[in-house]
Amino acid sequence: MSKAANKLMLLGAPGAGKGTVAKGLTSQLGVAHLSTGDMLRAAVAAGTAVGRLAQGFMDAGQLVPDDVMVKLIDERTAEADCKAADGKPRFLLDGFPRTLPQADALDASGLGPEVVLFVDVPEEALLRRLTGRRSCPGCGAPFHIDFQPPKVDGICDACGTALVHRADDQEGPIRKRLDTYRAQTAPLVQRYADRIVRIDGTTAPAVVLEAALAAVAGKNQAQSAA
Ligand code: AMP
Repeated sequence: MSKAANKLMLLGAPGAGKGTVAKGLTSQLGVAHLSTGDMLRAAVAAGTAVGRLAQGFMDAGQLVPDDVMVKLIDERTAEADCKAADGKPRFLLDGFPRTLPQADALDASGLGPEVVLFVDVPEEALLRRLTGRRSCPGCGAPFHIDFQPPKVDGICDACGTALVHRADDQEGPIRKRLDTYRAQTAPLVQRYADRIVRIDGTTAPAVVLEAALAAVAGKNQAQSAA
């Protein structure tokens, strides 16, 4: 008998390592990875109406308005890869919901998460992680100048594209993003107290992934992370 969850959500501050856990879960479980940050960056790069609206908020470390985000996720979760063979929803949310109204909207569509993986990292460690972060605009591979440097400085190991230092990974916007997280997203820890699993995000990525996989498989008791 399997208690494995199908509607999964990652919660954590910017820089907690949600993207890395998401990549591991996606490749191990074959679940669709819905990263609203990636979706918005793609919209910015493509110059769509959503991208033009989102860019100013993103560069300033602020959240994009809830109605825009809810519509984006409504449309994305309706796509075929977000359903299991039996037609039931199956996906991993990464970066959504990020506010209480977004969580309410998700519940109202019947898509509220069954398990919330809270990747917990103390705030002082986050700043160092974020300022050193580099990412590949070609394939999305993440790097870090101290913790995960590319083999050739500034070049993606996987596809050879020049790495970028995101505008919102500079120190000013990072401080703003951490403030935004504390004020608007951290309350979700309480909101999801009945289904949250706290994972220590300061351990090695493989250990974090193992804990996340155990939680998805229903091997961890839901525990208060407050
Ligand atoms: P991320 O890559 O998840 O850190 O997202 C980058 C930026 O995209 C955030 O700082 C926000 O400006 C915006 N963003 C991503 N997801 C959301 C969301 N659920 N609600 C509002 N803004 C978002």
